[in-house]
Amino acid sequence: MMSTEGARPRVVVVGGSLGGLTAALWLQDAGCDVEVFERVRTPLEDRGAGLVLHPATVRYLRARQGLDIEQLGAAANWIRYLGRDGRIAHQEPCRYRFTAYNVLYRALLRAIDPARYHLGEECTGFAQEGDAVVVSFASGRRERCDLLVCADGINSLGRRTLLPTVQPRYAGYVAWRGTVAEQELPPEVFATLHEAISYAVMPDSHILAYPIPDADGAVAPGHRLTNWLWYRNVPAGAALDDLLTTRTGERFGTSVPPGQVQERYLQQLRADARQLPPVFATLVARTASPFLQLIADVESPRMVFGRVCLIGDAAFTVRPHAAAGTAKAAEDGWTLAEAIRAHGGDVEAALAAWEPGQLALGRQLVARARAAGERLQHGRWEVGTPLPFGLYTVGDSALDSAGA
Ligand SMILES: Cc1cc2nc3c(=O)[nH]c(=O)nc-3n(C[C@H](O)[C@H](O)[C@H](O)COP(=O)(O)OP(=O)(O)OC[C@H]3O[C@@H](n4cnc5c(N)ncnc54)[C@H](O)[C@@H]3O)c2cc1C
Repeated sequence: MMSTEGARPRVVVVGGSLGGLTAALWLQDAGCDVEVFERVRTPLEDRGAGLVLHPATVRYLRARQGLDIEQLGAAANWIRYLGRDGRIAHQEPCRYRFTAYNVLYRALLRAIDPARYHLGEECTGFAQEGDAVVVSFASGRRERCDLLVCADGINSLGRRTLLPTVQPRYAGYVAWRGTVAEQELPPEVFATLHEAISYAVMPDSHILAYPIPDADGAVAPGHRLTNWLWYRNVPAGAALDDLLTTRTGERFGTSVPPGQVQERYLQQLRADARQLPPVFATLVARTASPFLQLIADVESPRMVFGRVCLIGDAAFTVRPHAAAGTAKAAEDGWTLAEAIRAHGGDVEAALAAWEPGQLALGRQLVARARAAGERLQHGRWEVGTPLPFGLYTVGDSALDSAGA
């Protein structure tokens, strides 16, 4: 059936992070009338830190905004495994690029009409009425649309409403994260880390580091940040609950932001970090505000429910080891827009054509990242094993100036 709006479907996107913004831009290009609603009141700065870029993540910015990959990310030419003594145990060339959440977010935000990006609008529910969806917000606003795209992340209201039994499944470990300015690193640490993605794999843990642009987007070596992630096993239960409780007693579900981790856990982290290979010990010691993220899997059996769909982390949350969560969110948005274009604006036909491929992508990615995480965290990852980075296949994250 054709959309109620004819060839120009009206689309509401809930969630204004990387997945929602990318989807909105592609859908707009495909001829849709799109608006984005994000519950946070201010632009989404300072979230997370580093991301491994993938061609899908930057497809819009390169194709439609003419941005060069050099402007968006820092390059690494080597994958390095460091031994306990800090010496290079294995290295090989690579072509990865790394960026910061803020760099991507700001570039996407510049591309969208500000009148179509609404901050401080929390979706509280939605109802399908005939050929339309009516979306409600905490502010009292109600929006009628032909298609509701839920890009509202791991704790998605859309998914909780449509698939109440699908919950995030804790992986048994958390990622501690932080950044240090390259200028603050001792010369020997900078020399080891600045042109590589570096790993150390331990019996029950692993840590990695790579360069990312600084807060102003600088990508020149010596002016960037070094981003690190240290994956540590924490049993589910009281210990995990307390770790996820902030210094002011607030219990976060899936992360604790910088500055809010309880002091005793920071002290423990710094003490334990002395056992790491020296460059990683220095990184952790010099990080002002380490923060942490719970690692979990989400797998949805469906992504389409009438005229409502789930994309990005809302549908499938992937452990970070494949470095492709943002890429998958972007791919969900791009393929959805292509389907709408191919079906001349017929939302229902487009959704039916779109869903099988994205379900298959989400399932295989969650499985690959889970398998890699289990080996990395439980002492079954051999030094020198190729990294599991990739969206459709291992290795498709490689990027260079001419790359797709
Ligand atoms: C440690 C770690 C490392 C990672 N590294 C990489 C990497 O290297 N490469 C990569 O591609 N990906 C990586 N990822 C994954 C990546 O961060 C996510 O997959 C990606 O950002 C998904 O984006 P999203 O837009 O779907 O969800 P989110 O970024 O979670 O955004 C959801 C948005 O919805 C908003 N929202 C929620 N509920 C409502 C509501 N009711 N109403 C309105 N708004 C709402 C939220 O405020 C939020 O802004 C990593 C993830 C982690 C945890």
